[in-house]
Amino acid sequence: MRSFDLTADPSRPDLLALDEARWHAIVECRSDQDGRFVYAVRTTGIYCRPSCRSRLPLRWHVRLFRRAAEAASEGYRPCKRCRPDALQQPDEQLATRVAECLASHLGEAVPLRRLGETFHSSPYHLQRLFKRVYGVSPAHYHKRLRLLAAAERLRSTSDTVSVIALRGGWRSVAHFAAAFRGHFGLTPTAYRASQAPFANQEACSDE
Ligand SMILES: [Zn+2]
Repeated sequence: MRSFDLTADPSRPDLLALDEARWHAIVECRSDQDGRFVYAVRTTGIYCRPSCRSRLPLRWHVRLFRRAAEAASEGYRPCKRCRPDALQQPDEQLATRVAECLASHLGEAVPLRRLGETFHSSPYHLQRLFKRVYGVSPAHYHKRLRLLAAAERLRSTSDTVSVIALRGGWRSVAHFAAAFRGHFGLTPTAYRASQAPFANQEACSDE
């Protein structure tokens, strides 16, 4: 990889340039390139190994990542055919399993202690490992996922803000509203008003 390790965007050193050599590796399904990078397809939300025999995507829909965990942290799912996530180092596999666990528990807080118990690891070790792979702590990662899920509910349902806060496992509407504002820069009500088809349907006065 070193021989053509060109970085496309200096502000994103984690992204690799889709140069001719890498594109040809994808076109030719070259297994000797597996483990050197994975490619994600914007339109499908799936990422693959270079050797994957699935249909060739359009070149401008492709994004490259050095590691499966990086593609996963941007919301891409591993291809079921080539299982690019199976190429991960043991540490990355564990971090990915933690991330999947967090993503499947969006309606509650998941304390680090519980993650430690679930994955038979010391909370301290888990925290450090996760941070190394994902760049943020499990708590930070989980909070972001929960807020994104809440934002999705605000956009696509007519549930009140307090129902969304409750279902999202927040201690109170005030806690939820503060966290939401910290992330999106808007209160949940203002966010909904700026986005949703439900914007004019009802006034959510319970915030
Ligand atoms: Zn694939």
